[in-house]
Amino acid sequence: MEEALRLDPGEPCPPLSTDTAADVVVLGGGYTGLWTAFFLKEREPGIDVVLLEQDISGGGPSGRNGGFVNGFWDELPTLADLYGDEAALAICRAADRSIGEIGEWCVAHRVDAWYSRAGDLGISTSPAQDGAWRENAETAQKLGADQEYVELSHDEVAERFRSPVARGGVFMPGAAHVQPARLARGLRRVVLERGVRIFEGTAVLRFRASSPAEAETPRGLVRAGSAVLGLGAYAAALRRFRRAILPRASSIVLTAPAPERLQEIGWTGGEGVYDYRSTLHYLRTTPDGRIVFGGAGARTGLGTGLGPRMDFDEAAAIRLVRELHRWFPSFRDVPVECAWGGPIDVTGLHLPFLGTLSTGNVHYALGFTGGGVGPCHLAGRILSGLALGADDEVTRLPIVGAEPKPFPREPLRSPGALLVTQAIMRKDDAEDEYRRPNRLVDLLARLPRRLGYNLGP
Ligand SMILES: Cc1cc2nc3c(=O)[nH]c(=O)nc-3n(C[C@H](O)[C@H](O)[C@H](O)COP(=O)(O)OP(=O)(O)OC[C@H]3O[C@@H](n4cnc5c(N)ncnc54)[C@H](O)[C@@H]3O)c2cc1C
Repeated sequence: MEEALRLDPGEPCPPLSTDTAADVVVLGGGYTGLWTAFFLKEREPGIDVVLLEQDISGGGPSGRNGGFVNGFWDELPTLADLYGDEAALAICRAADRSIGEIGEWCVAHRVDAWYSRAGDLGISTSPAQDGAWRENAETAQKLGADQEYVELSHDEVAERFRSPVARGGVFMPGAAHVQPARLARGLRRVVLERGVRIFEGTAVLRFRASSPAEAETPRGLVRAGSAVLGLGAYAAALRRFRRAILPRASSIVLTAPAPERLQEIGWTGGEGVYDYRSTLHYLRTTPDGRIVFGGAGARTGLGTGLGPRMDFDEAAAIRLVRELHRWFPSFRDVPVECAWGGPIDVTGLHLPFLGTLSTGNVHYALGFTGGGVGPCHLAGRILSGLALGADDEVTRLPIVGAEPKPFPREPLRSPGALLVTQAIMRKDDAEDEYRRPNRLVDLLARLPRRLGYNLGP
């Protein structure tokens, strides 16, 4: 975000200071809210849209994620189980179109978000992870989407990227990457140009799903015919979504530029890389030769709010630097320039959920589970359609209106989530050291699967 703001701070969007009315009020200025505002204006240029953001637009996860732009191919088996093969394929194809359209949109609107469609490498870093991609690849093949996964031997992985931890892997050519904050800020500029009224530094303190919907902020009330909730993990503070979302921290460290070291390890193709730990590591390069190294942490949102701050978790950053050096010993003397984190909105089946509250005029898209950069574009298109009463190809996708699998109630949920995520992390660590986790850790780490949850690979 610092880099994006240096490039273009954008015009100011002062806080709301008086009551106002609008056709649609959008809560949250992340990708979901901004894409929804964009598509509303595309569909109806004259529509009056107010967007309320407590921070600056993109100040949440949308402006500080890893920038991996993926669709839903890795969720294909779950989607096929839930909705059948054909519908699962339709969802994946729609998400795939979003990946391409984000790139086209950046060109059309002169947003230099470093968009590149270089694909992702999924690699195994322990015997326990070997072949972890096979179920996805086989399902894709069975449904005629075999080009989405290209299995690679250890030597083939090494042709693209050399690390002592890498074993075999799989190449997913459809994935793209962006500088996340440049995309968020570019979206902000474009929707402002189209007349969306954005109020930043404007936290919604109370929201009523009435008709009209009412969003109360410290210095003004917004009344609108319909409302869109694009609140990401922060929606866990709303009673309606408390059991649907488990906020969990994800953190990133960023090295100084070292393009010559990337040359040495052969990682010059711009591919994103991730492993198959449940507490996923995700890493990529930047055009100036840095490594961005991210990982899911053990911190979870406690109680009703987000609990411990997730903007920066020192213990997670230290862990990630250690992992970075294990993956790339030649980066030991390259400084790590910054570290940050943010909340991801984990759902029980690793899938987002979209829909409309029973009042009929409040629409939401939540639970992107650490994978929203691409899907929020599709969500924005769907939400704009729902807000305008459209009945089209994307509003009819079966992810719209699906109820998420609820997490257990408090007081079980918070301590349970903490215990289980810590066990998952210890299991992942043991397996990365080619050890078997102890039996209690293994039992706890497997508990979510036994209870029908899908919290990761
Ligand atoms: C460290 C990290 C790395 C990630 N890496 C990736 C990745 O590489 N690829 C990927 O696909 N996904 C990644 N994600 C997830 C991705 O960033 C999210 O899925 C996506 O940004 C969700 O967008 P959103 O608009 O739904 O929510 P958000 O970006 O969370 O936006 C919600 C907005 O609502 C605002 N808000 C909250 N409460 C209020 C209120 N009461 N009043 C007003 N405003 C409010 C927040 O300030 C925030 O700006 C990552 C997330 C994190 C934290």
